[in-house]
This record gives sequence, structure tokens and C-alpha cells, in this order.
Amino acid sequence: MVLDVLVDDAQRCATAGAREKKGGEPACGLTAKENRPTQEKFHCVGCGHLAHADTVGAINVLRAGLARREAKPA
Ligand SMILES: [Zn+2]
Repeated sequence: MVLDVLVDDAQRCATAGAREKKGGEPACGLTAKENRPTQEKFHCVGCGHLAHADTVGAINVLRAGLARREAKPA
């Protein structure tokens, strides 16, 4: 059924998005839980980059999507 396919696609996108949001810091790549002093604040302990955590998550999702788009099919 079409609705089942759409629900499956939405669940896959949500899972992939949550996984990509946990990527490294967009400026220097450092991944450390100390970079997230609060739920909404992102402050890199490596380079000092300061941003809203959702902004960092969105950048990581965008970069992962662009990388997949550039990837050659197997
Ligand atoms: Zn950094």
C-alpha cells in the first residue's frame, strides 16, 4: 500500500537524520559530548565554535546528504 511505503520512507529519514545530527563539530570535526553543555547550546571544546545545537545538527544532516548525492552507485 502506498501509505505503508510513505511511512517506511519517513521512518528511515527520521532515523538517518537523528544519526547524522550526532556527527562531529562542523568547523573542526571534533566529536565530544562536552561540546553540548546544554540541550540547545553547542560550544566546541576544541576550537571554541559556538552555535545553537539544532544549527550544528542541520549542518551535519546537510553535509551527509550532499556527500550521499555525490557518492557513486555501487
Ligand atoms: Zn571545533
